[in-house]
Amino acid sequence: MKKYNFYSGPAILPKEVLEQASKSVVELDNIGMSLIEISHRSKEFVNILEEAKQHVRELLQLDSDQHVLFMQGGASLQFCMIPYNILNEHETASYLETGVWAKKAIKEARLFGNVEVIASSADTNFNYIPKKYLVPPTSKYFHITTNNTIYGSQMQSMPEVTIPLVADMSSDIFSRPVEGKKFDLIYAGAQKNMGTAGVTLVVVRDNLLGKVKRQIPTILDYRTHIKENSLLNTPCTFAIYVSMLTLRWIKKMGGLVAMEKINEEKAIKLYNEIDSNPLFTGVIAKQDRSRMNLTFTINKPELEESFNNAAKEAGCIGIKGHRLVGGFRASIYNAMPMEGIDVLIGVMREFAAKNG
Ligand SMILES: *Cc1c(COP(=O)(O)O)cnc(C)c1O
Repeated sequence: MKKYNFYSGPAILPKEVLEQASKSVVELDNIGMSLIEISHRSKEFVNILEEAKQHVRELLQLDSDQHVLFMQGGASLQFCMIPYNILNEHETASYLETGVWAKKAIKEARLFGNVEVIASSADTNFNYIPKKYLVPPTSKYFHITTNNTIYGSQMQSMPEVTIPLVADMSSDIFSRPVEGKKFDLIYAGAQKNMGTAGVTLVVVRDNLLGKVKRQIPTILDYRTHIKENSLLNTPCTFAIYVSMLTLRWIKKMGGLVAMEKINEEKAIKLYNEIDSNPLFTGVIAKQDRSRMNLTFTINKPELEESFNNAAKEAGCIGIKGHRLVGGFRASIYNAMPMEGIDVLIGVMREFAAKNG
């Protein structure tokens, strides 16, 4: 039976990307060697790295003073690496607290300087995105999480600020057009919408760096990674390759405008079912709903496990919600076909008809 991968991450990837990646693991482009056994400094791999960077630059419409880096340590390493590199001990950074990942970023930043949480939706278990807040112009930078993977909320527009804007885009990067120029630092773990686990994309503006007083270990200093073109030490060559293939696929599909259109169609269709089916309720305030991670609960909690099983039997895998939210979460990243949405909707209807 056909399976649909609704996991939040590692997550679904386009079939043609998986097929090409598996071929290249055996032999890369008829060179007589595997992708994963060639040197990261070989011409073949450097070409892959450069192509990946070029796709990122084009898709995010970056300025020439914005550097594209492929790093390790996940988005989680960025939680500490960012303040380490750009926040002095007596300076203050502003954070928007919209979920678990934002909380983790805040916790790490507090190790290096002052952190002001300028708005939070913690009071309602993060079921909306705060909108009325002032970002102090004296703050060193403003940190946001554009899509809250666990709760299922998403910023529908980006804040206009006069200070450097830093964004965790792990779970919605390349899902919609973003004006990359407006950001001074963007980071994203690849395993949600860009590729496979093991690599983290970082886009950092040049003039953000070199201003902290502390010593920074070589491997944690963005400037070394810029200087070494993401080849300071052995990078995750396979993960970079898979990201490159996915970015190539996104461009072939029509780029971010096309991605957004498909993602909207998929999300609207599934939210319509959540809203009209008497057995289910959406978790997030309507205006802040994510188009990537759709969270909903079942109105008869005793049926939770049985619905999860019904979904599994129909081929919909990974819809169990995060324990902090409960209920269900359908992660429908770029590669999820409309067919997967239709199958899930079919299960919801059939289940409601039997148990409503
Ligand atoms: C998954 C996720 C992270 C953590 O990513 P790792 O690569 O596992 O460290 C951080 N932020 C957001 C928004 C995420 O979805």
